[in-house]
Amino acid sequence: MNLHEYQGKEILASFGVQIQRGLVAQTPEEAVTAAKQLSKETGTSWFVIKAQIHAGGRGKGGGVKLAKNLEEVSTIASQIIGMDLITPQTPPEGKPVHQVLVAEDVYYPGASEPDEYYMSVLLNRASGRTMIMYSTEGGVDIETVAEETPHLIFTEEIDPATGLLPFQARRVAFNLGLSGNAFKEMTRFVTSLYKAYVNSDSSLFEINPVLKTSDDKILAVDAKVSIDENALFRHKDYKAMRDLREENPVEVEARAVGLNYVDLDGNVGCMVNGAGLAMATMDLIKQAGGDPANFLDVGGTADAARVETAFRLILKDPNVKAILVNIFGGIVRCDRVAQGIVDAYKNMGDAIQVPIIVRLQGTNADIAKELIDNSGLEVHSAVEFQEAADKVQAVLA
Ligand code: GDP
Ligand code: MN
Repeated sequence: MNLHEYQGKEILASFGVQIQRGLVAQTPEEAVTAAKQLSKETGTSWFVIKAQIHAGGRGKGGGVKLAKNLEEVSTIASQIIGMDLITPQTPPEGKPVHQVLVAEDVYYPGASEPDEYYMSVLLNRASGRTMIMYSTEGGVDIETVAEETPHLIFTEEIDPATGLLPFQARRVAFNLGLSGNAFKEMTRFVTSLYKAYVNSDSSLFEINPVLKTSDDKILAVDAKVSIDENALFRHKDYKAMRDLREENPVEVEARAVGLNYVDLDGNVGCMVNGAGLAMATMDLIKQAGGDPANFLDVGGTADAARVETAFRLILKDPNVKAILVNIFGGIVRCDRVAQGIVDAYKNMGDAIQVPIIVRLQGTNADIAKELIDNSGLEVHSAVEFQEAADKVQAVLA
């Protein structure tokens, strides 16, 4: 589950990570109230107004702006709230901004230039360990740094048995070229950041930039936080942070009815039971020259009602030109699934305008095939996996 910057920062702060402070606002009036409140709490008179959407690169798209007084807070907030913000990470038409974070300006002019670093905490899938990835080159695209100056990206792997050790936190501060108070502040920052990552059951923290202010404070200025959904039952308070407006509407609907659906770019809709078979089915479609439109695991009970719900979800995607149903009848009998497909098809009337290819294997597969073949509907049955994929390609051609 992805969070907004302001929510991610709330979680960081709850574990003692120093952040650029701010308050969220839904309207320009709320933004001004927030700015006044921030002035009281931090003494700041300059503010940054930051669009809250689930995408990075907001600064480049005009979604992060400096306000030097309350009037500017109001005008900038009214410009940003309601805009469709286009960044390198949004769809081409942009994403609507519903709220802004009014934050204290932490780039205040001082004796020395503020320094921006990059830091993320994530799982290294090769070693199976949590890793802190960091760089002196913050504030810019880390992908560009990785490509052009990979030696400026450092990593620190953490043994789960010991957690982050003090020498590792010091090594991070050292590699970032820090000394004196900033060095101490950075070791504290890294230590609390790691603690926050582990205890919030996150799967990704990306803080870009981490800022060294001109008075040697270390702050998280941005926060991209993803929480592991499988751990949400341990964090009842995080559940409310889900912003469904930021998620794919079909995925949201599927989740509500207990179906595991992921939207993809292709044109072959897939309905499969079991996540492993679903993955294999997507591979096969690719190998046959097609492109899956979705991942959909209908689970163990593929009865008529569930099959119909699944068909309806798949057909919400206008790109779908054919549907491949690939069900293995281990616990569920294939003839029941086949009957479910036929019933759902008849029930849906004109809603189904694309050919359906069905492969049912397992208990009573032969009866199931007969049922499909004799249904008189535009449903093609297949016995072999490859045959199914080839039939999909044939109907698309
Ligand atoms: P992103 O563009 O979506 O990654 O959003 P960020 O939160 O990283 O902000 C983008 C940029 O805005 C940062 O890299 C900074 O250069 C700038 N910025 C953020 N906070 C402040 C601030 O307090 N003062 C000033 N002057 N600039 C800021
Ligand atoms: Mn950023």
